[in-house]
Amino acid sequence: MSDTTCDVLIVGGGVIGCSIAYFLTAAPEGNGLRVRVVERDSTYSQSSTALSVGGIRQQFSTPENIQLSLFSEDFIRNAGRILVVEGEPPDLGYQPRGYLFLASEKGIPVMRRNHLRQIQLGAQIQLLDLEVLGNRFPWMDLSGLAGGSLGIRGEGWLDPFSLLQALKRKAATQGVSFTTGEVEGFSTKGGRVEKAHLADGETVAAGHVVNAAGPRAADLAGLAGIPDLPVRPKKRFVYRVQARDQLPGCPLVIDPSGVYFRPEGDGFLCGVSPPVENDPDTLDLEMEYGLFYDRVWPTLASRVPAFDRLRLGSSWAGHYAFNVVDQNAILGPHPGLENFFFANGFSGHGLQHAPGIGRALSELLLFGKFRTLDLTRLGFQRFAQNMPLREENVV
Ligand SMILES: Cc1cc2nc3c(=O)[nH]c(=O)nc-3n(C[C@H](O)[C@H](O)[C@H](O)COP(=O)(O)OP(=O)(O)OC[C@H]3O[C@@H](n4cnc5c(N)ncnc54)[C@H](O)[C@@H]3O)c2cc1C
Repeated sequence: MSDTTCDVLIVGGGVIGCSIAYFLTAAPEGNGLRVRVVERDSTYSQSSTALSVGGIRQQFSTPENIQLSLFSEDFIRNAGRILVVEGEPPDLGYQPRGYLFLASEKGIPVMRRNHLRQIQLGAQIQLLDLEVLGNRFPWMDLSGLAGGSLGIRGEGWLDPFSLLQALKRKAATQGVSFTTGEVEGFSTKGGRVEKAHLADGETVAAGHVVNAAGPRAADLAGLAGIPDLPVRPKKRFVYRVQARDQLPGCPLVIDPSGVYFRPEGDGFLCGVSPPVENDPDTLDLEMEYGLFYDRVWPTLASRVPAFDRLRLGSSWAGHYAFNVVDQNAILGPHPGLENFFFANGFSGHGLQHAPGIGRALSELLLFGKFRTLDLTRLGFQRFAQNMPLREENVV
């Protein structure tokens, strides 16, 4: 079949692939660059982006993630202006209504430590004692709690698919080519990828290849002869419920048990990550309700009396691209395959960091180094050097 050429081939057209494509071609140095995004499923029916809860928060433990959030939130807040196409500003449905992390006595020291780091970096987060919590959220039962941490600016949620579409549309106007197809192999020579082979027989010679394959990142890396990318597809369920009352001023709440909930329309979305011993690698998306009845509902009902009677609505499953080593992103080139770049392993926080990741990867590709935010510690080399960068605040 046909042979084609491009400067940068991005495999995976989810929010990460689209963001990298946008930032590459928005930079003056990327002018004229031939950037192509190949996506196997043009409906995005199984992509993590389309199945995400769309939260953005500053409340992380690592400086890198806090700074990625600060930049990304500013980008999202201004997306109407930045991503406007033909006078039409995109509407991302951004609702800056905050995240509220709740802590038991045991969790307070870690919360305080993270809070200090967050505010030192410029995030606007407030620690709340029980009295303030009770006054501000009178619908909440404070049993077992010792305090909370609330984002007063720069946190909330948005419509994930609108962010993807806005980045994609803008990138297309900047000359990026988006095509449907599945990469099923690579030819490599002398420590470089030479060509990507598509399922329809097309061969693409690429100067650089970016792995933006989400939960399938390890499979794609395997095709390039890299056997050890520690990213696994982990199924996460999102339940939609209707409570008997509204909860005025409700942010995205994270209970010390890990159960979260946030308003959505006139109801709520909620969920929890399963225990590690019951969290297999899987690409199936079959819906299950055991976690809801065993853990989510009982926790909701004890934390918020208005959840004691609720109606379960349409719910769904999606995949985290879970980094099993340190639950953090893996960014940049592979040490032994110099033009093969990772943008993987976001472990449930990739939607909110997509703008920051797009900017970072575009800098690496255009200039060979990070220019704005130094994300070196997120490189693949940390595994060989046994220097994991663990993110403690994974929801
Ligand atoms: C239930 C759930 C809730 C979440 N909530 C949040 C949240 O609140 N906040 C947050 O920040 N993040 C959240 N996330 C995580 C977030 O959705 C992801 O980190 C983010 O969408 C990752 O984007 P991506 O582009 O890497 O992956 P994807 O959107 O999965 O895109 C990867 C694409 O690569 C394509 N692909 C794979 N292999 C190939 C191949 N060989 N050839 C061509 N194409 C290929 C796939 O079809 C796919 O479309 C959540 C995720 C889930 C599942």
